[in-house]
Amino acid sequence: MAECLLCHRSMSHQLTLTQLLLPVPIEKRCCCERCWQQFEAIHSDKACSVCGRQLTTRTICQDCQKWQKQATMEFKNRACFVYNEAMQAFMQQYKFAGDYRLAAVFEPFFRQQVNRQKADIVVPIPVSEETMQTRGFNQVMGLLPNVVYQSPLAIKSNWHKVRQSSKNRHDRLQSPQPFIISRPELIAGKSVLIVDDVYTTGRTIRHAAKLIQDAGARQVNGLTLAR
Ligand SMILES: [Zn+2]
Ligand SMILES: [Zn+2]
Repeated sequence: MAECLLCHRSMSHQLTLTQLLLPVPIEKRCCCERCWQQFEAIHSDKACSVCGRQLTTRTICQDCQKWQKQATMEFKNRACFVYNEAMQAFMQQYKFAGDYRLAAVFEPFFRQQVNRQKADIVVPIPVSEETMQTRGFNQVMGLLPNVVYQSPLAIKSNWHKVRQSSKNRHDRLQSPQPFIISRPELIAGKSVLIVDDVYTTGRTIRHAAKLIQDAGARQVNGLTLAR
């Protein structure tokens, strides 16, 4: 009997009326309806048109207005869910406690969102060697097991990552470029979708976007699970 990956309750009695009435196969869910409803999906007509943050109307948020004053590049991010309490708890368990199986909760939904963007190539944000050693996996690639992606980016070898989560907003906005392009031939002339788990200040994904754009990409967009 299937059990919810998040709350560990049995899911057998939780089919909704619609699922029972419609003659469609019930999608293989890895978390129960109650847990799923704790996540708050962002609708693009009520989101910042630049970073994807949830707003009451479609406009440009204050953070993005600041970015636009200093940045010369065209970059838009779409975010799937609000980084609310449930999402923070999920990330805590998935990323920081390293429970790789939890990726299955969002995998079908996230894959659909990635495919919908119809980019020529999908580029997950890389993680440092140090993170790979402690966590054992790249949390972005973990969400994309059934998506073909490329890795034109690498983390600078001399870049000692101070964990983002332990730094304040100001430090993160100042942080220097952590990436290099290791495979420029993958990018030139292509439309590129950069994928990350969480958009916090936007600093990381914008560093990646700038390099990819400078390497000759035709278009660069972002997609994050949360914002
Ligand atoms: Zn549950
Ligand atoms: Zn914004």
